[in-house]
Amino acid sequence: MKSGSGAPPQDQAIPATGSNRKRILLIEDNPLAMKLCNLLHARGFEVLKAGTGTEGLKLVYDRHPDLILIDIQLPDISGLTVAKALKHDHRTKGIPIIALSASGVDRDKEKARESGCDAYMSKPISIREFLTGIEAFFNYSPDL
Ligand code: MN
Repeated sequence: MKSGSGAPPQDQAIPATGSNRKRILLIEDNPLAMKLCNLLHARGFEVLKAGTGTEGLKLVYDRHPDLILIDIQLPDISGLTVAKALKHDHRTKGIPIIALSASGVDRDKEKARESGCDAYMSKPISIREFLTGIEAFFNYSPDL
């Protein structure tokens, strides 16, 4: 793979999702990731995991998730940069993105919106709010 964003050339098609099971990509580098993965898996979602922005981008193009949860502070590139890239690509701009932010970073919410994120959750994340938020995306957009 070339260096940079990790996105393949624009003319390369993305395979469609094969099953009815909703596929969620979680791009998060801290230990919270495992907990959220287990929660989502227990609720019947298919969960893909990435620990860096580059790895996350690759999974978006390879596996075409129905929803992306992305930490803003990743070890390689900012989650907001990843979100912006996906929202500027016609193949991926329709995938909802929820930004996850460290607690106490008030400006993250605004920056997440500016980067094209559809929603925002601040850590620590309450389990109930988290699951309600995720399921709301699929209830409001049954064709995702
Ligand atoms: Mn992080």
